Amino acid sequence: MKNLDVSSFQNDLISWFTKEQRTLPWRQDTDPYKVWVSEIMLQQTRVDTVIPYFNRFIRQFPSIDALAEADEERVLKAWEGLGYYSRVRNLHAAVKEVKEQYGGKVPDTPEAISKLQGVGPYTSGAILSIAYGVPEPAVDGNVMRVLSRILTIWEDIAKPSTRKIFEEAVRQLISHENPSYFNQALMELGAIVCTPTSPSCLLCPVRNHCQAFHQGVQTDLPVKTKNKKQKRVQLAAAILVNEEGKILIHKRPGSGLLANLWEFPNTEMIMPLRNEKEQLGDFLISEWKVEAELKDQIGQIEHIFSHLIWNINVFSGMILSDVEEQANLKLVSLKELEQYALPVSHQKMLKLYLSD
Ligand code: SF4
Repeated sequence: MKNLDVSSFQNDLISWFTKEQRTLPWRQDTDPYKVWVSEIMLQQTRVDTVIPYFNRFIRQFPSIDALAEADEERVLKAWEGLGYYSRVRNLHAAVKEVKEQYGGKVPDTPEAISKLQGVGPYTSGAILSIAYGVPEPAVDGNVMRVLSRILTIWEDIAKPSTRKIFEEAVRQLISHENPSYFNQALMELGAIVCTPTSPSCLLCPVRNHCQAFHQGVQTDLPVKTKNKKQKRVQLAAAILVNEEGKILIHKRPGSGLLANLWEFPNTEMIMPLRNEKEQLGDFLISEWKVEAELKDQIGQIEHIFSHLIWNINVFSGMILSDVEEQANLKLVSLKELEQYALPVSHQKMLKLYLSD
């Protein structure tokens, strides 16, 4: 490694982590299952948000066996609100595979573990190093930011091919005595010291090794080209109640965005000049044969995905016709609704409705 004393860098980084690491529930032991669950939850989600979800999830599904045997509805419900639901569906499928193919023991080689559904190079490296002490890189956006600064790497981190450069760098830097702490320390440094816009260089345990700091270019790194603009979609949704006070919900298809989650009826507004209530009313009849009287709008919700923004106008209404319930269309009481996993946007709608 150019200009870098590898063993002194490892020492500085690992001793700092040993003293300063935050106490987090998934750091209480090195059970590969718990490491796995925490790493999947932490993808695209902040630590503070993950903590209660992790604790609840592990209480409900304390082991590979418990999760493998759970039905999908319960698993989705436990994930409700965390978003990126394909993560939990993949985790569920992969855990079943671990139970069937590997007798319930998470595999400990890169070849076997990376074949599991949803286990990419980052998750595989994190589980192998943290749970099994294997010196494998675990490179995510945080780690790329930190290393781009320490080593002044000017490649664009938005390009998928750039990850390889960082994985190679970690292979050269990683401590073989304590790969777990080495990887966790890089992640921790990115989370609390070497942050995206204002790195705290003066408090940094590896400042002496950091080329970006010496050159004064730490805020110019990493190089990251902007994502393409997100597409905006205008939707109208309705919380519809029948005369018994039951609410109409339907299940999204089994693949694609928010697959298998339940939601209130909604549709995209494709005719901008036509009244939204009329478009929504026509949709309810054509899609579900439900006739409804829609009342005034009760609010508006914006929900941002990585590639898409939903703008949803929310209405309440009364169901006037009989509803033929199906596997993916149900009438439920408010109490029963608690058993169904709803996307965050629809949880917000429910709050709007209840406060109206
Ligand atoms: Fe990041 Fe500054 Fe530390 Fe370098 S010195 S690793 S830029 S916090």
